[in-house]
Amino acid sequence: MVDLEKEKKEILEAYKGLLKAAKHSKKDPATKKRIRKAFDLALEAHKDMRRKSGEPYIYHPIAVARICAEEIGLGATSMICALLHDTVEDTRITLEDIENIFGKKEALIIDGLTKISGVVDYNVSLQAENFRKILLTLSEDVRVILIKIADRLHNMRTIGSMRRDKQLKIASETLFLYAPLAHRLGLHSIKSELEDLSLQCQEPEMFEEIQTKLEKTQAVRERFISKFSSPIKKSLEEKGMKFEIKGRPKSIYSIWNKMNKKNVPFEEVYDLFAIRIIIDSESEDTEKSDCWQAYSVVTDYYQPNIERLRDWVSAPKANGYESLHTTVMSPTGKWVEVQIRTRRMDDIAEKGFAAHWKYKEGGAESQFDIWINQVRELLENSEGNALDLIDDFKLNLFAEEIYVFTPEGDMKSLPYGSSALDFAFAVHTQVGSSCLGAKVNNKLVPLSYTLTSGDQVEILTSTKQKPKEDWLNYVKTHRAKSRIKSSLKEERKEIAKEGQLMLDKEFKKNKISYENISLKTMQTYYKVSSPIELYYQIATGKIKLKGLKEFDIKNGLVRLKRGIQNRVQKYLIPKRSSSKKGMPKNDVLVFGDNMEKLDYKLASCCNPIPGDEVFGFITINEGIKVHKTNCSNAVQLMSNYAYRIIKTRWIDESKMEFLTGLKIIGIDDKGIVNNITQVISNELNVNMRSLNFDSHDGIFDGTVMVFVQDISHLSNLISKLLKVKGVQRVDRIDKIG
Ligand code: MN
Repeated sequence: MVDLEKEKKEILEAYKGLLKAAKHSKKDPATKKRIRKAFDLALEAHKDMRRKSGEPYIYHPIAVARICAEEIGLGATSMICALLHDTVEDTRITLEDIENIFGKKEALIIDGLTKISGVVDYNVSLQAENFRKILLTLSEDVRVILIKIADRLHNMRTIGSMRRDKQLKIASETLFLYAPLAHRLGLHSIKSELEDLSLQCQEPEMFEEIQTKLEKTQAVRERFISKFSSPIKKSLEEKGMKFEIKGRPKSIYSIWNKMNKKNVPFEEVYDLFAIRIIIDSESEDTEKSDCWQAYSVVTDYYQPNIERLRDWVSAPKANGYESLHTTVMSPTGKWVEVQIRTRRMDDIAEKGFAAHWKYKEGGAESQFDIWINQVRELLENSEGNALDLIDDFKLNLFAEEIYVFTPEGDMKSLPYGSSALDFAFAVHTQVGSSCLGAKVNNKLVPLSYTLTSGDQVEILTSTKQKPKEDWLNYVKTHRAKSRIKSSLKEERKEIAKEGQLMLDKEFKKNKISYENISLKTMQTYYKVSSPIELYYQIATGKIKLKGLKEFDIKNGLVRLKRGIQNRVQKYLIPKRSSSKKGMPKNDVLVFGDNMEKLDYKLASCCNPIPGDEVFGFITINEGIKVHKTNCSNAVQLMSNYAYRIIKTRWIDESKMEFLTGLKIIGIDDKGIVNNITQVISNELNVNMRSLNFDSHDGIFDGTVMVFVQDISHLSNLISKLLKVKGVQRVDRIDKIG
């Protein structure tokens, strides 16, 4: 039997503990009352619920609220929301109830918390999506994420009573999502604890082994630390500074991680630790100089490695971290990291930026709002390291997704490898259809430009622009592809109408009455798949009607001429490259971007000959082997050993010059064409074959075909072109014609 009276007392004790932790909030009677109201409401709502461990459910929200106050340094609003965080999802309390009783802000935060638990299900493939949702919520109100992290921390601390399979899922998600998130938000000690708890759950024996070994070696570490720090201590005391020096051993998780990554035993990593000097500064004004003074003392005794000096005091990290790090040589010949910071900085480093406002007057949510705005700015500002919040994630989490921003700071997620054109279509079909190019991080780029996370993209459009066939090669997203296709189809239809009129005229002239059958016959003859395609090719002159003389016309019907079967077949024979006819040639193979001549062997599986499209494959024992790109082994080689493929092409050695193409993009400036041609013809004596250019909305987009002697001749030309006023980019076109 559960002693309900006793339980009630214990719950009240837990609540009192929470209030004690909320030092700053309980000073104000009105605030205290609101917290009490939240507690009463949660207690009532969860009254019939118990946790897996058997204890009353209310212990969980109380514990989460306490973590928020004590370990993250959050204020009353967050505590209220933490107390109520599971009510809307699991009880009869609605968001309206919360808004009526507490207010709009509280309702919004709890709505965010409820939404996250809705999206964060334990499906591995959804993890990236979960993170995206979480980031989006983050830009609404960071408290949602902080409370969510507190919720997760308490669940991890009490994970023991869960079913084993659920434990493992939660632990892996914690490692994947919540620990890195806590890290990014500067919640260092929570991050470490989440990692350790996850490891303990996943690898209980390994965890215990490391833990035991750490305890056994503690004395050795402590001896080293006290010996190392004693001269520093003395010197700092002489200067009248108040401080604390401690050795910070690595967490069990990070030791395990290092053992795993480097494949080394515990003995080789256990003594890795940092020494931390925490200074109690007189005031915030002297903090910086205090830190540097301590640095000066440390380096008086130990030789620093200058390359590893990190000054986050002058320029704090985006997540609020401030500290001075140096690595020095200890008397035993070991490098030791020394972290120098003030008490305030240490608090922020351990608890995150939220701890910061504790130091401000008036103690308040308003300070917190400032921080929220800062984080929001981080997400919106695409420049430089301000984005390192997402940056880290981009590298290891989002192999399949990127995050880019509009000039207004709106985030868009796109598949990895998406182009500026994909982005344009993601903004709006109209924007995509009239896309001319883009500015990525304020630099002009072509619409085929591949985006990376954090890019800020501004699309340049022109009313004269419309989707083109080759755009399909530049896009990755389904949306863009289908929009381009349907637009091309529309355009074809329009053009086809003219062809239809032309054919109708011809049919009338020849008195064709069975139009449908006749159309089918013509489709077969011209090898087109639909009447629209037939009309289109007629309209564009690809098919010349010539009074239908190529057909027999009988009884109002278009028929194939006798022997036409042969012609239809002939049509199907692929064209053989005709470029090798005539002139004696001296074709040789060259390799790589620099078109070097290297030793090679021709692969016997496909026996390439000059003129064939080829690639080189670097074999283990036989040097480079050259295959045809359509060799039956090509796909397998390219997909499994892409890194061993070397670009290979035939060139005619007897010709002194090679034809190559350059794409020039720039800002249209009066005389830009003139200046470009001048550079090409006069300055470098390069023969230009053609120059095509387009100019829209002030963007110059030109293609130049030139004859050059070799690659250095070409790069010389490119660098000269880049100096022409207005020119932004010069790219070599690999495919000619
Ligand atoms: Mn919860």
